[in-house]
Amino acid sequence: MKLLLVEDEKRMAQALSELLRQENYDVDTCSDGPSGLEAARGTPYDMIILDVMLPGMDGFQIARTLRREKIRTPILMLTARSGLDDTVAGLDSGADDYLTKPFMAKELFARLRALARRNLPSGDGTLSFGDIVLEAGTASLVCTAAGQSVRLSEKEYRLLEYLIANQGQILTREQLAVRIWGFDHEAEYNNVEVYLSFTRKKLAFVGSQTAIKAVRGIGYELRYEHV
Ligand code: CA
Repeated sequence: MKLLLVEDEKRMAQALSELLRQENYDVDTCSDGPSGLEAARGTPYDMIILDVMLPGMDGFQIARTLRREKIRTPILMLTARSGLDDTVAGLDSGADDYLTKPFMAKELFARLRALARRNLPSGDGTLSFGDIVLEAGTASLVCTAAGQSVRLSEKEYRLLEYLIANQGQILTREQLAVRIWGFDHEAEYNNVEVYLSFTRKKLAFVGSQTAIKAVRGIGYELRYEHV
């Protein structure tokens, strides 16, 4: 697995790349924004670990530029603060996940494995599962069987995207809350139910046989129940 690490703090970069190599990742490192962008453009990496605060060009700009150029390499953003703004900005700029410094190596490896498992959007920016397709460009949910489509709100889109990317796995309410709101906050857990219900209504609206199933006491899973 070929990985690009863009991190300007020398000791951090060194420690991280050693750890990653021990886990059999093939690591290239860059220590500033512009060289990170050039490397990401020029080499087909499997994943990019991107620090936010970088000399020359920050991580948000790099992620945005890559996405604009249709380079869809999964990006794990390293944010220094646990601030909501950074996290939201990170995900909005096109990062796939984020990790707040300081973090444990175990946590980093878990995130990288999750990223590697992702069902990445196909070349035209769509994700699909069962009889549904998510169109990134128009933020629409399409039921291919029924030929119906509906626009999704940003949160509904993020919710379905996350469920599709992790198909076959049960996701907890906490995982969904963190993914949608980008932070871990008790008060938001109930809102997850609200957005799940909005999203279910839209699935029903387009006539889809795909359902968000609650797994009692564990979480939620996407299932296609074709009859
Ligand atoms: Ca930095």
